[in-house]
Amino acid sequence: MQNTKRPTIPAAEEILGGYFPVLDHGFVALVDYMGSDEDIERAARVSYGYGTRRTSQTRGLVRYLRRHRHTTPSEMVELKFHCAMPIFVARQWVRHRTASVNEYSARYSLMPLLFYEPQAEDFALQSTSNRQGRGEGAPAEIYREAARRWEELRERASEGYTWLLESDVARELARIDLPLSTYTQWYWKIDLHNLLHFLTLRVDPHAQYEIRAFAEVMAGMMKRVAPLTYEAWIDYDLEGRPFSRAEREALARLLEVADDGAIAARGGAALSAEDLKGLGMSKRELSELADKVTPPGHPDFDLDLRRMRDAEEVGREMAGAVPGAFE
Ligand SMILES: Cc1cc2nc3c(=O)[nH]c(=O)nc-3n(C[C@H](O)[C@H](O)[C@H](O)COP(=O)(O)OP(=O)(O)OC[C@H]3O[C@@H](n4cnc5c(N)ncnc54)[C@H](O)[C@@H]3O)c2cc1C
Repeated sequence: MQNTKRPTIPAAEEILGGYFPVLDHGFVALVDYMGSDEDIERAARVSYGYGTRRTSQTRGLVRYLRRHRHTTPSEMVELKFHCAMPIFVARQWVRHRTASVNEYSARYSLMPLLFYEPQAEDFALQSTSNRQGRGEGAPAEIYREAARRWEELRERASEGYTWLLESDVARELARIDLPLSTYTQWYWKIDLHNLLHFLTLRVDPHAQYEIRAFAEVMAGMMKRVAPLTYEAWIDYDLEGRPFSRAEREALARLLEVADDGAIAARGGAALSAEDLKGLGMSKRELSELADKVTPPGHPDFDLDLRRMRDAEEVGREMAGAVPGAFE
C-alpha cells in the first residue's frame, strides 16, 4: 500500500475494519476515520501544515473547546461505521439526522433471516416509575413462552418470505411482513461533534438497552480515534450536569468561594426542601438536583479486542442466513 501523508492513529488503525459483535447477530465496525484530536486543534487555530504540539497543549485546548461549546473544530473529524442492528433499533438510531446513512437494500438484496432475541437477563416487565422503560426482571415462565412465540412467528415470517421469493414476487414486496426484530445493516458516517451528541443520548441509562449496547461499542471506537476528546466528553458532557438558576442560587447560599478559587461550606448553612421550593424548584427538580450532586460514575467504554472479528467471516455468516435456495 502507498504510504500516506495523512495523520493516522495507531489505536484506531488497530481496530480499523474489525467487526465487534453487539447483541446476538449485530455488529459495529469502524471502517474509516478522518482526523483526530490534533486535527481539532489545527482547525481551531487554522494552522499551517502538521507541526508537532505537545499532547498537554492539545489536551488543554480540546478541553477548553468542549467546556465552552466551541464545537465546529470537532466537526472536522469524521468516523464511518458499518453496523448491523434489529430494525426497531435502526428506527431509533435513524432519528439522528446529522449522519449520512446508506442502508442495505432489501429491494435489491435478500434479507438475511436473522432475528434479535433478548437474553433472559434483559427480558423485563414494564417499569412502574418510567413509562418508557423496563422495570424488574420477568418471571422465567413468561420468558420461555415469549421465546416460543417469537420462534413460531419468525418461522412463519421466514417461510412466507421464502415462498414469495420462490414465487418470483419482487423482493421489495416479499420483505414487507418481516418483523421489527429482523437485522438490517448500514454504513453510517458522522462528524465527531454530532457523534458525541448521539453517544450522550444513547449511552444514557434512559436509552433502550439494545441501542445502548451499540452506542457503548461506538464510544470505545471513538476513544481510539480521539482519546482527548473522549476524555473531555466524559468529564464535561456525559458526567457533567448543567445547573439551573435556582440550583446556582442554592449552591451560592451553601458555598463560599475565596479569591484564590478555594471553596468552603458556609458555616452551618443548610437548605430544606421547602427552601428549595421557595427558590422556584418543583418536586421533580428536587429529585433531579439530588441526582446531580450524587458522585459521578466513571464509565469505561474500552473495547475488548478479543471480541474483534474478521470482515470475511462476518460477511460469510450474513450471506449464509439468506433463504437457502437463493444463496
Ligand atoms: C431516551 C429517548 C427517548 C426518546 N423517545 C422518543 C419518542 O417517544 N418519540 C420520538 O419520536 N422520538 C423519541 N426520541 C428521539 C428524540 O426525540 C430525537 O429525535 C433523537 O434523540 C435525535 O436527537 P436530535 O434531534 O437532537 O439529533 P440529530 O437529529 O442528530 O440532531 C442534532 C442536533 O441538530 C439540530 N437539528 C437537527 N435537525 C434539526 C431541525 N430540523 N431543526 C432544528 N434543529 C435541528 C438540533 O440541535 C439537534 O439536537 C427519544 C430519544 C431518546 C434518547
